[in-house]
Amino acid sequence: MTYDFDPNFIELVAAHLIDGARVFDGEKLPVFRPSDGFETAPIPIANEEIVDRAVTSAHRAFTTGEWRNASPLDRAAVLHRWAALIDENRERIARIEAASTTRPVADLINRDLVRASGALRFFAEWADKIEGKIIAGNNSATSMVRPEPYGVIAGIAPFNFPAINAIWKSAPALAVGNSVVLKPSELTPYSALVFAELALEAGLPKGVLNVMQGAGPSGSHLVRHPLVRKITFTGSSATGARVMADAAATGTKPVTLELGGKSPQLVLKDVTDMDAVATNVANGFLANSGQVCTAGTRLIVPSSKSEDLLERVMKIAAGRKAAPTWKSDCTLPPIISEKQAKRIDDMLAQTLADGAEIICGGGRDASMNSGAYYQPTILRNVPETSTGFRDEFFGPILSVYEYEDEADGIAMTNHPSYALAASVYTDDFNKAMRLPSQIEAGTVWVNAHGRQPDYATPQGGFNGSGFGKEMGRSGLESFLRFKNVWLHHG
Ligand code: NAD
Repeated sequence: MTYDFDPNFIELVAAHLIDGARVFDGEKLPVFRPSDGFETAPIPIANEEIVDRAVTSAHRAFTTGEWRNASPLDRAAVLHRWAALIDENRERIARIEAASTTRPVADLINRDLVRASGALRFFAEWADKIEGKIIAGNNSATSMVRPEPYGVIAGIAPFNFPAINAIWKSAPALAVGNSVVLKPSELTPYSALVFAELALEAGLPKGVLNVMQGAGPSGSHLVRHPLVRKITFTGSSATGARVMADAAATGTKPVTLELGGKSPQLVLKDVTDMDAVATNVANGFLANSGQVCTAGTRLIVPSSKSEDLLERVMKIAAGRKAAPTWKSDCTLPPIISEKQAKRIDDMLAQTLADGAEIICGGGRDASMNSGAYYQPTILRNVPETSTGFRDEFFGPILSVYEYEDEADGIAMTNHPSYALAASVYTDDFNKAMRLPSQIEAGTVWVNAHGRQPDYATPQGGFNGSGFGKEMGRSGLESFLRFKNVWLHHG
């Protein structure tokens, strides 16, 4: 099926949404579509005054209680209507996203937007299932623990998977009665406005979900605002640390940090279906051209299996098609920006200078005339002291590490800083059950790499990959605080 379209006919609106109205105030920041570098609609940058308007609007909406005190069933009904509107508008939203981000149009229609409305429905269903507790009591006193929303939540999203991130950052918070100020990435700013306007159409009261545009300084103003009660942030580990510092400096606000990764894919000697392993390994580092937080970028493989596996992986990689995101056959989308591609070039050059060797790829795709497309690249002998080992490339780059002794292979899975996700390939049930406890990662997949289409399992890293969970019940509860109420009675 073809979803091809002409991006020049897609209307991209860049605005804040404050109190239910579009606001275009602010200096302008240019935006470039990654597929061909064409300049699209510039975004208005939220300065302190605009951030204050957005947060004050969210705070007012919270304190008037129209949403917070609505019956949970009424909140659920609005979220369900919102999900239905996203479904009805799926192709329109997909074209806006594909015309301005790294997400291919077919993936948006068949995957991202299905998961976005699915997540909304999941959280809508939770709205009336939040329970408190009675913990202690006697004839003269009773202690209740009551879950309550925080108030204004700041949701800060990265450039990758803008649609999914917009919903993950807002739906669970809204389901339990919070108000939200959402800041999409300055590189992928358009769809957040579309989602928020559909929420209004679904019946969400004005001000309960505001959108503000801007880059790092705007995000910092948001985090530092005194009426923000909690921050949910997804992005790089370096920015996460700055967010935490700002949150600590301005009221010790709680933060959930979903940060970067350098996720290992560990192949054990016993595994037999090498085609299945190769498919997972290739998808693990090539999906969204490696611009996935959980990308499996470190392949740890027995030396006896290495050559055979790499041949299969390279064959799959060669079948990937670099193309603009508005082409239905795009399976290797561009890097988000020229700046990010240049960062990958520099990291790669440094890693090679440190002693790494190229097995395949190793640079830009010369067949593409515009946009920053990267070849699937496989490296070996990447020294542990090198940037290629320490840091995320955030491009389609896999580093291969060979082992003889399985204990060494297992030890290699643990990275000195990142611990977001990992995968293990084995036919041995006992090892499949035993190994995950030896791997430091927030998620371990056995015989797969990548999040399954489900909403109930929590996602989130350990160590330098952050803390706190999104999705599932724990993701929902991260937007609640628990109040102890002692009732003294006769
Ligand atoms: P980034 O850290 O550059 O930016 C993320 C967001 O933070 C953007 O909206 C940006 O404008 C904002 N920001 C920048 N400086 C800020 C500051 N000082 N205060 C507040 N906000 C600020 O990340 P990116 O390049 O957009 O995204 C890629 C990164 O995100 C990768 O490291 C990737 O691994 C990570 N990521 C993690 C997950 C996860 O679930 N763990 C998911 C997706 C992406």
